[in-house]
Amino acid sequence: MLNTLERHVLDVFEACEKCDYDRGFQLALIKRRADAGTTLGKERLRVVLVCPECGQRYDIGWSVEVE
Ligand SMILES: [Zn+2]
Repeated sequence: MLNTLERHVLDVFEACEKCDYDRGFQLALIKRRADAGTTLGKERLRVVLVCPECGQRYDIGWSVEVE
């Protein structure tokens, strides 16, 4: 599996650095404890962007709480 790249997005982010696909990304949820600000007892999932062309994953700091 490809390594997930961490990116701090401050501007338009719609092109894959690996393959230059430029129509945006798919989403995937991966299990990983979030860092600060997590309510105890709640599970959080990391939301990562996935290039639909080559499968490269990008972690831009999103996470969601799952009930
Ligand atoms: Zn790609």
